[in-house]
Amino acid sequence: NEKVLQVNNLQVSFRTYGGEVEAVRGVNFDLYRGETLAIVGESGCGKSVTSNAILGLIPQPAGIIKNGSILFKGKDLTKLSKAQLRKIQGVDVSLIFQDPMTALNPTLSIGEQLTEGLRTHKKIGKQEAKQKAIDMLELVGISNPEERLKQFPHQFSGGMRQRIVIAIALICDPELLIADEPTTALDVTIQAQILELFEEIQRKTQISIILITHDLGVVAKIADRIAVMYAGKLVEIGDKREIFYTPEHPYTKGLLNSVPRLDLVEEELQPIEGTPPDLFSPPKGCPFSARCDYAMEVCDHVYPITTKLSVAHGVDCWLQDSRAKVLQVQR
Ligand code: SF4
Ligand code: MG
Repeated sequence: NEKVLQVNNLQVSFRTYGGEVEAVRGVNFDLYRGETLAIVGESGCGKSVTSNAILGLIPQPAGIIKNGSILFKGKDLTKLSKAQLRKIQGVDVSLIFQDPMTALNPTLSIGEQLTEGLRTHKKIGKQEAKQKAIDMLELVGISNPEERLKQFPHQFSGGMRQRIVIAIALICDPELLIADEPTTALDVTIQAQILELFEEIQRKTQISIILITHDLGVVAKIADRIAVMYAGKLVEIGDKREIFYTPEHPYTKGLLNSVPRLDLVEEELQPIEGTPPDLFSPPKGCPFSARCDYAMEVCDHVYPITTKLSVAHGVDCWLQDSRAKVLQVQR
């Protein structure tokens, strides 16, 4: 299967008055054609920073890519100029953010917003662009597309606006779509419709999707693989079934336990106690050790290397590494 994206040892920091925050601390993953990879974790874990780094959307000048590479079809995106990135953005790689209202310009018609990218990036003529806009609105399930092109964002409901945002993101046929909490602002019924829309579009176009979310219900529905981030590290990755049914990282297990289960209405939630470490001075060892019921001495001193449990499943935890016992005895 073709790799569309390869993220290698990505490290991103932010300069602040309080010092440097190490937001992303050596993240590795690949993305294949036609798959949906969900990146999950608590807020501040680095999932949005990781996805923003892919398109050079790290706020400047505070944000710095300290190390690593992001290969998109063989090109290192971390090495591109702003102008080169702008050519890729919205054309080869598209983004969808949480709030459909702020993503649209209230003063421009839907038609103008849909065709803008086509006309500037793809140099497509007016008539052809209009036809493409009509086709896109149809694809995202908006009826009477020809009429609706003339309308403005406020004339659409929240769910319809998010469909329009998706249509704009897809109109230039990107190979990669990054969706950061794309359904969080929507009610449950519309959320389900939007997720179905993603699946349908993916079947038709073989687009690759990176889905950033804290919502494991959304992940269960549409992800193929799941990456779990904690304190700037990617601590576990695997096929959806592996992560849901045989998670190995204690943090992943805690995250899954904290999801309310519909079949266990009476059951209390089990939030993981404690808070993530301060990323101004991240711990040298496993960042989860302060909250981990299984922490060993070695965990506080050395970050675990990734243990491969299957082709897709990898975990950064000393419990999976037989050398932990030896190191333990030596201390
Ligand atoms: Fe817990 Fe140690 Fe595994 Fe970290 S490496 S999750 S502290 S057992
Ligand atoms: Mg976020």
